[in-house]
Amino acid sequence: MPNTPDPTSPPQTNADSGSALWHGFADMSVVSRSEFVLTRGEGSRVWDRLGNEYLDATAGLWFANVGHGRRVIAEAMAEQAARLAAYSSFGDVVVEPATRLADEVAALAPIPNARVFFTSGGSDSVDTAIKMIRRWSALTSPDGRGRTGLAVLTHGYHGMHQGGTALSGIPLNREGNPGLDPDVVQLAHGDLDAAVATLDATPGLAAVFAEPVTGAGGVHFAGQDFLTGLRKACAERDILFVADEVITGFGRTGAWFASGLLGLDPDLVLCAKGLTSGYSPMGAVLASERIWAPFYAEGAGVWRHGYTYGGHGVSAAAGLANLEIMRSEQLPDHVATHAATLHDTLRAATAQLPVVSEVRTAPGYLAAVQLADPGRVNEAIAALRTTGVLTRALVGGGLQISPPLTLDTAEIAELGERIAAGLSTLG
Ligand code: PLP
Repeated sequence: MPNTPDPTSPPQTNADSGSALWHGFADMSVVSRSEFVLTRGEGSRVWDRLGNEYLDATAGLWFANVGHGRRVIAEAMAEQAARLAAYSSFGDVVVEPATRLADEVAALAPIPNARVFFTSGGSDSVDTAIKMIRRWSALTSPDGRGRTGLAVLTHGYHGMHQGGTALSGIPLNREGNPGLDPDVVQLAHGDLDAAVATLDATPGLAAVFAEPVTGAGGVHFAGQDFLTGLRKACAERDILFVADEVITGFGRTGAWFASGLLGLDPDLVLCAKGLTSGYSPMGAVLASERIWAPFYAEGAGVWRHGYTYGGHGVSAAAGLANLEIMRSEQLPDHVATHAATLHDTLRAATAQLPVVSEVRTAPGYLAAVQLADPGRVNEAIAALRTTGVLTRALVGGGLQISPPLTLDTAEIAELGERIAAGLSTLG
């Protein structure tokens, strides 16, 4: 809530004049005049440079799963930075904590005997998966050419690299980029018959990419029957199934991975965000034995793919400390226990507000408060800032609710009160 200046932050000198920073997903004609600068965080709260305190309704960009300001992660990162911050993971080289993190992630993966390919973030994971699938298909096909077609769900967000942009189920995110991957088809989200009909009508499909819960596209959960039905249809047609768990991975749905919770048995799992809770950028592709075995086979040769910062030492140290917190505080169980309270609280807080048309929820700490008039979403975000809630707009005019997994019942109640107070000012 607005309060006294934060003693740890520098005095505000440029409230109304922005810095040289070019922001992502921003209208810079507005943002260049006024940036919203945050200076610290602790648990589920963050503070701006004027000292105003906010409940972080979004966990940053769906990533701060263990909450902000965890000194133990900062210390693990500092220790690794002083020892050997980074080197390379090309060829046979690797920095030690990356090997331990790979083993820990493989043990948690919703895939038996997984192998872990580290990336620098979610978009890297998506584009890595595209290339991995096509290479796999070539390695395993009798003519060495393989299949290249990919299918994605409408509303899906799969990052901002070229490959992920081509996969986007959000048309606006593809706009203005002619020549994107022509081998991509869209499947109707939530309509199994239509989705399967598209699979059958599209020759040469190698894989389907699906978010278990659509995140940026608006928090839409198509339900377990749709997802397992789609997965089964893929298996029957020998099409790989890729679960994009960049948001849903690492506890968000009340299980370590949504694929495990929903029984999706994916061929590949994509992750990032909660892997380090955002303390340092890192992502990963988790591959099943069916996928990795041909790459590991005698004579397979070099797969010419990798990133300078895949397996980064400081990021791996952050990941190890992060997973230790998630395990010791049993955060997936905490979310499973309290998710219904979060969902009920959001519904109760907004039930009497005509500006809200619905509250959409998905398993775990995932929800969207949908505005009746999507055109008022920025007004709603501004109103909520005045009552101490930080949130952001989803596609379609919903407000993102994906708090840190540490959010407790008192904070859930407080979040509900602040949301009701903020949105009620909209009339
Ligand atoms: N996939 C999904 C489902 C995402 O939600 C995101 C980011 O929000 C990405 C991929 C891309 O991740 P990044 O922004 O780390 O590149």
